[in-house]
Amino acid sequence: MTLPPVYSPAEAESRWYSEWEKNGYFQPDPDPSKKPFTIVIPPPNVTGILHMGHALNNTLQDVLIRYKRMRGFAALWVPGTDHAGIATQNVVERELSKEGLTRQQLGREEFIKRVWAWKEKYGSTIVQQLRRLGASCDWSRERFTMDEGLSRAVEKAFLKLYESGLIYRGYYLVNWCPRCQTALSDEEVQHEEIQGHLWYIRYPAEKGDGVVVATTRPETLLGDVAVAIHPEDTRYSHLVDQTILLPILRRPLKVIRDPAVDRKFGTGAVKVTPAHDLKDFLMAQRHGLSAIRVMHPDARMNDQAGPYAGMDRFECRKRIVQDLEAQGLLVMTQEYTPSIGHCYRCKTIIEPTLSPQWFIKMSPLAKLGIEAVEKDGLRFIPERWAHVYLDWLRNIRDWCISRQIWWGHRIPAWYCQSCYPAYVEEKQRKPLSFDSIFEEEKAGIHVSVTRPSQCRCCGGNLLVQDEDVLDTWFSSWLWPFSTLGWPEKTKDLSTFYPTSVLVTGQDIIFFWVARMVMAGKFFMGQIPFKDVYIHGIIRVEGGKKMSKSLGNIIDPLGVIDRMGADALRFSLTHMTSEGQDLYLSETKFLLGRNFANKLWNAARLILEKQEGEAAQPIPFNPRFMTIPDRWILSRFQRVIQEMTDSLEGYRFHEAARGLYQFVWHDFCDWYLEIAKLQRESGDEAATHNTDQILLTLLEGVLRLLHPFMPFITEELWQKVQPQGKGMTIMRASWPGPESAWLDPDAQEIFGQLQAVVTEVRNIRATFRVPLKEKVSLLIQGERGIDFLRQHEKIIQRLGSVDRISVGSSVDRPSSSVVSHLPPQESFSSWDLIVPLAGLVDLKVERQRIEKELKAIESRAQAKKTRLSDSLFRSKAPTGVVAEEEESLKLLEAELAKWTESLKQIQ
Ligand SMILES: [Zn+2]
Ligand SMILES: [Zn+2]
Repeated sequence: MTLPPVYSPAEAESRWYSEWEKNGYFQPDPDPSKKPFTIVIPPPNVTGILHMGHALNNTLQDVLIRYKRMRGFAALWVPGTDHAGIATQNVVERELSKEGLTRQQLGREEFIKRVWAWKEKYGSTIVQQLRRLGASCDWSRERFTMDEGLSRAVEKAFLKLYESGLIYRGYYLVNWCPRCQTALSDEEVQHEEIQGHLWYIRYPAEKGDGVVVATTRPETLLGDVAVAIHPEDTRYSHLVDQTILLPILRRPLKVIRDPAVDRKFGTGAVKVTPAHDLKDFLMAQRHGLSAIRVMHPDARMNDQAGPYAGMDRFECRKRIVQDLEAQGLLVMTQEYTPSIGHCYRCKTIIEPTLSPQWFIKMSPLAKLGIEAVEKDGLRFIPERWAHVYLDWLRNIRDWCISRQIWWGHRIPAWYCQSCYPAYVEEKQRKPLSFDSIFEEEKAGIHVSVTRPSQCRCCGGNLLVQDEDVLDTWFSSWLWPFSTLGWPEKTKDLSTFYPTSVLVTGQDIIFFWVARMVMAGKFFMGQIPFKDVYIHGIIRVEGGKKMSKSLGNIIDPLGVIDRMGADALRFSLTHMTSEGQDLYLSETKFLLGRNFANKLWNAARLILEKQEGEAAQPIPFNPRFMTIPDRWILSRFQRVIQEMTDSLEGYRFHEAARGLYQFVWHDFCDWYLEIAKLQRESGDEAATHNTDQILLTLLEGVLRLLHPFMPFITEELWQKVQPQGKGMTIMRASWPGPESAWLDPDAQEIFGQLQAVVTEVRNIRATFRVPLKEKVSLLIQGERGIDFLRQHEKIIQRLGSVDRISVGSSVDRPSSSVVSHLPPQESFSSWDLIVPLAGLVDLKVERQRIEKELKAIESRAQAKKTRLSDSLFRSKAPTGVVAEEEESLKLLEAELAKWTESLKQIQ
């Protein structure tokens, strides 16, 4: 049988993927005796394009799913996409604006239709790209966060939380456009630097000098409720017991200490205006302060503004500055260029404003989240993320779940048109405290999926649904069970929930992971997964994050085009280590591509000896087994064991590296070379036996490698498949270690042979013996020499050695190099002597090595100096420091090597 000389990933990958999908191989085996193993995909946005982060995340999930499938689990990987409210709405709005339209002009219903049309047309880009990566998701179970079933789940969840008293309506600070009279999401606010001023204003005290604060918006001081300083700022410690007075209105203000204060801004003391600044709002929440709104929705000053009531906010600003100056309270004015938010539609300056929103009361849910780790065995890998998770839950704030956009799950709440507006007006007349929650009965608020026929407070029948939609994360936190059919009691739900492991990045531990755990416990009574594997972030070499704005993107689809998905996947897994960040460059993917080529070439060599279309590994005959045969089979058993252990422990890099080492070095570099020798023996039975061992190993290696490199392994496995046509490696079993093949004796003897060959090769390389010249080898040693005699041919072939003499005392000729092998259990210590007279001039070599040593020493010294510089260590990005440390280690290893070489000449 002959394989094409070069492997062509593009052709094989698309062929195999459609074959697998067509045959339903991605669906879990329905055999009820099989244990389920389930992963739910972190749903990419429908607007998404596959980036390197997705590639890593989904490769790791696919490795686990393919591995468990081979281990006999009913493995299910549930795919799907997220409607990504704001992102998708923005994309469609941008399209509309090209036609000169706004969503308001189109109207809500028409606009939503447009978004759906966009989703139908472009929303599957990312799932097609996941296919190119080789992701073995069960596409027959693909879900979308706005599909019918998931929308029902969202309604059900909202109602259940509401009935449990965990959802309430209250106030939150939002971005407000006074002209459009609407709240804007953060993404809808455009920031622009604008030349302005920083005013330093003295706030008097009842006794003493008071304190100076700086502000860019003096008109908001009318709504101040406190002055804040940083807890570690000693400049103002005397203030804490004083009563500070608000300029002009003379209202008493508290002095609070809060770590959110930026000590470097202005004087380090800041005014706290909770109704008009988000940072102040959050600070006030922490300190139990109330908020005073000083503006109407159109940004005219309201009654709380005292003498300025009725003025426009910017007119008020001018007048306040004049008045402060007149009263001697304006200490200083500085030029200043703050970044100011503008409405993306009308360019009006945003006015942060308190407005009513829906919230989830989080502390009872956070208790469930904490319990998950402390009692239910939820495990983070690496473990350090459990602390981050717990810390966040212990300091959790209520979750604002309403968004002022149209694309998403509309909030199932209805407002009575007689009760609600009157209630809100009444409420806004007083200062608001943050725990001030709407009383639904009085406010005429009705939570219901369908329109209530009448208001339960006034009997009125004009009820209007909330305009807002739910935060996108409100549907994704239900993902592990909503995708399996909840709230229906489906077979999938009872079979596959709880899922087995979640694989994700650290950036969504709070947004998503923690919330899924709480939702799982609250709605299902069980944590949604036992293990959470958190992988690192993709960076570029040098430490920077990979991002569009920095222009340093490496496109995974480009890598797939050029080198194949297998190369991409293998290189990425090879680089993960204990959840550390990954430092990428284009060339890092060569590792995977070269590995695929190495495997292809080895397979060609093995298969060219086979007749027919597919080879059948048959049991080999122990009678013909040589030491190298026994060694490679034993090594293989260990590799199987190590790979299995590594994958069970989510040590992907260890598994990839272990297999790489085995295939590239043990199998290809050593055993294949020796197998060629064995085949030359002329004994037909022995030759046949060697061929069978090669086939057996190749077939086993393909199965071990399959989770990492699914395509090339399938392509080759079809040629060596033991089961015959119609089978797939995807459903083949994971190799089990067979202890019968474990052979410590063979490993020790072959280890000694390898040591001899390696030493001879090192000597040849170090002293620059020309490739075509063979050397002779004298070995001085006592115990174990007989083993060596039986394998002289291997040393001669692999070490380019002609004559080998051994004995317990050998005379060392002049102009020779000696290398020492330490004793092993079955071997005494050996001296390997290689005479080099006539081959190289050792005097010249010595001088060269000494020069080399000096050069390396000075480079190592320079690196040491740099690394001991504390300024460098604190300023350089972590990636750079790590790279420097790594290269110092390499230099030190080289230093040791050359020092050793010098000794060999002595
Ligand atoms: Zn506007
Ligand atoms: Zn009513």
